[in-house]
Amino acid sequence: MPTNGIENLSQQLSADWFTLTVVGIVGLAIGSFLNVVIYRLPLILERNARHEARQLLHINVAAQTRFNLVLPRSHCPLCDGIISPLQNIPLISWIVLRGKCVLCNGSISKRYPIVEGVTCLLAIGTIWIWGYSITGLFYFVFLASLLTLLIIDVETTLLPDQITLPLVWLGLIASIQSVDTNDFPTATSSLIGAIVGYMSLWAINQAFKLIRGRTGMGNGDFKLAAALGAWLGWQALPAVILVASTTGLTYALFLIFWRKLSTKQEIPFGPFLSIGGCVTLATQDLFTTLVFP
Ligand SMILES: [Zn+2]
Repeated sequence: MPTNGIENLSQQLSADWFTLTVVGIVGLAIGSFLNVVIYRLPLILERNARHEARQLLHINVAAQTRFNLVLPRSHCPLCDGIISPLQNIPLISWIVLRGKCVLCNGSISKRYPIVEGVTCLLAIGTIWIWGYSITGLFYFVFLASLLTLLIIDVETTLLPDQITLPLVWLGLIASIQSVDTNDFPTATSSLIGAIVGYMSLWAINQAFKLIRGRTGMGNGDFKLAAALGAWLGWQALPAVILVASTTGLTYALFLIFWRKLSTKQEIPFGPFLSIGGCVTLATQDLFTTLVFP
């Protein structure tokens, strides 16, 4: 009997390793897609804004070449050369080519393998924690979206509505699951979280505007805070904002100390909100038992 038990266990483990490897590969592929979103979405928004402005001003509107998440095919941002599928394998291609473009020898940003690797870990991690469940899928989408927003904000200081707004809705929809599982906040907590998340940052920004005469945050930050409130519930918002502001402040002080930042320069707040959301999700149980016993 024990041998059977061990056999069963090892069979189960090898099955787990196999499926987790598949999940990891899917994670890498999704990470590769997120890289496309990170690079192209801000460009698409800029092109559209230019196009609309020209239309409004009645400046001759030239027909736009197709540019979306699928077209044109993957190309090197430095030399515009088309990247072959073999040079486009997530993580592996970057390592094999040592971060250099085969055509122009220019260096390819480390962001590509980092996003792919982190997405792979997120896929494995969410499945590991929540199993092959709708909850695991929901939280993977949540964390992958936060990663995408974090990098876009770092690179362009934008938090596109195309990601923040669906994230708010998805958080509200996820909370409906709380009827069957404790993994999500209740629908009421989620709804109040979305409203309070938006309003609290908006209020802080208004106060900042009155005192300093300029804005400290953008509308994207309010929408991201609304999404975090919807996903984590209003009870989690103090922790999110606390983690976001302390990490943001530490980073700013660090930059000022190393004289890499003047006091007038602005740092995007979105990346720190995203970090606050992740940390809060990871420590939520601990936090709620400490503050709301
Ligand atoms: Zn190139």
